[in-house]
Amino acid sequence: MTTNCLQKPRDSYKDRIFTTSIVGWPKVQHIEERNGKKDFTPIINKALELGGFTEDEPEKTILVGFGHHTVLSLADKILDAVKQGQIKHFFLIGGCDGARPGRNYYTEFAQKTPKDTIILTLACGKYRFNKMDFGTIGEFPRLLDVGQCNDSYSAIKIALGLADALKCTVNDLPLSLILSWYEQKAVCILLTLLSLGIKNIYLGPSLPAFISPDVLQVLIDKFNIKPISTPDEDLKVILG
Ligand code: SF4
Repeated sequence: MTTNCLQKPRDSYKDRIFTTSIVGWPKVQHIEERNGKKDFTPIINKALELGGFTEDEPEKTILVGFGHHTVLSLADKILDAVKQGQIKHFFLIGGCDGARPGRNYYTEFAQKTPKDTIILTLACGKYRFNKMDFGTIGEFPRLLDVGQCNDSYSAIKIALGLADALKCTVNDLPLSLILSWYEQKAVCILLTLLSLGIKNIYLGPSLPAFISPDVLQVLIDKFNIKPISTPDEDLKVILG
């Protein structure tokens, strides 16, 4: 574990988890940096001791790598497709995953998006649907994988780049943000989006505990944040 979230590990696998850098957990072995070097011998030894798997999963490949450099290098073609009506709307479906029920909303939402819309996705929640086949629009895959939650920067750059090309604000784009949160880093990302003035975010599967009724009202009044309802209802509202 290097930079991303670590949940409380179970005792059954605690001896097979290692942390380094800014991540750590009591009684989980931490690889320290000494004199600018890290010694990963304990991980290698553990891997050798465990012996590997007896068989592989069936192979499945997916297309990734749609960071802002890639997407914005295709901005002309994307905007042409928008102008010709091939792409009607963009959805950014991203955020955390978690074990509680209710998180299938995001998979269902992705599956129900119309065929003339593009899904940008990022962060842990995408692993529930990023192996599904969403088809293509012209030469574009309908599902564009922007990366992990730390790549929210990339998603913001894409939105700003498209807004710039269309000479409008991000809030005027045919773009909806459908976000799931789980822990504090996701909340930081949400605060970043709010500080950029981005409105109309759908947030779920539940609201963070610190969002008291009064805070929620402020977020609704200022940013038009909406708690998610059902994929059908929310899609109906978004697509008018
Ligand atoms: S998407 Fe959420 S759970 Fe996953 S690493 Fe990022 S902040 Fe953590």
